[in-house]
Amino acid sequence: MKVTDHFAKAKGKTLVSFEVLPPLKGGSMQAIFNTLDALMEFKPPFIDVTYHREEFIYKVRPSGYYEKAAIRKRPGTVGICAAIMHRFKVDAVPHLICGGFSRDETENALIDLNFLGINNVLALRGDARQFEERFTPHEDGHKYALDLVRQIAGMNQGHYLDPDIVNGEKTDFCIGVAGYPEKHFESPNFDTDLAYTKMKVDAGAHYIVTQMFFDNARFFEYVDACRNAGINVPIVPGLKPLTRRYQLNAIPRKFFVNMPKDLVDAAMKAGDDEAVRQIGIEWCIQQSLELKKSGVPCLHYYTMGDTDTIRRITKAVV
Ligand code: FAD
Repeated sequence: MKVTDHFAKAKGKTLVSFEVLPPLKGGSMQAIFNTLDALMEFKPPFIDVTYHREEFIYKVRPSGYYEKAAIRKRPGTVGICAAIMHRFKVDAVPHLICGGFSRDETENALIDLNFLGINNVLALRGDARQFEERFTPHEDGHKYALDLVRQIAGMNQGHYLDPDIVNGEKTDFCIGVAGYPEKHFESPNFDTDLAYTKMKVDAGAHYIVTQMFFDNARFFEYVDACRNAGINVPIVPGLKPLTRRYQLNAIPRKFFVNMPKDLVDAAMKAGDDEAVRQIGIEWCIQQSLELKKSGVPCLHYYTMGDTDTIRRITKAVV
């Protein structure tokens, strides 16, 4: 079932969903099953699985020179989605990125998903690889998520890259895209970023999932700005709790979001990381309850492998 059909079926009730990461290469699928086993009691209608492109690493050769090598540390997104649907009978939402994919490879990946019965996808650009200054697309790939949305929406109309394919099967993907209550870090300003988000929706995106935020006021302002700009699709808040003191700097550095002063002050005063985690959990619960009260379609939690924390938050919220 499509993500947006789940929202419609819920008739205004706030759902909960989770995002999981594929295990590091060499790791076991059991790690994902363990995480989801612990979260299934909350009846998530869908589970997102992130996609990780290859990264560059530098290996020291016997000669002492460094060799640049490309590796994918977390492969397996599509397989994990199929396994989740098979084992839990829950819809899976694979993330699909522009980075590293030619348009042809994207088309083939979408055909795989379609044949597997996976008809949800979160369409993203992806970030620059480690040690790269900026995002560079595949030479025959997409530069922006907008172009990826257009390709998927085109397949929903039966359009494939090969012009000789006529009357191609129409796929039926429900397309999600990312939104940024505190603007995307590369964007010159909030309004420009919002205009590009509107283009993604106008091109066929069915719903938006936001970057994490720690101040609900930012989310409410974002939703208002979207509505004023004519973006009328469901907007799902993405949530991640603070769990360690070092994240006070690491999260803003990596995700370009602000931490409210009250949260920072409380975390700074906390005795140790466990005390920081308690503060982060309580903060995220309060955020979630307020968002739920405001009528958001779904609370989407970034688990990042920390099942216990996410479980405690969800238990207090549903
Ligand atoms: P875009 O929408 O393409 O926007 C990127 C930038 O370009 C923005 O500054 C935008 O304003 C600008 N822009 C957009 N369109 C145009 C245009 N036509 N012309 C000029 N400028 C334009 N990354 C992963 O690698 N794997 C994941 O699984 C993953 N999951 C994510 C899930 C969520 C909910 C979110 C919020 C992010 C996720 N990311 C993931 C990170 C994401 O890939 C990065 O934030 C990336 O930098 C931007 O992706 P996007 O899809 O928002 O890009």
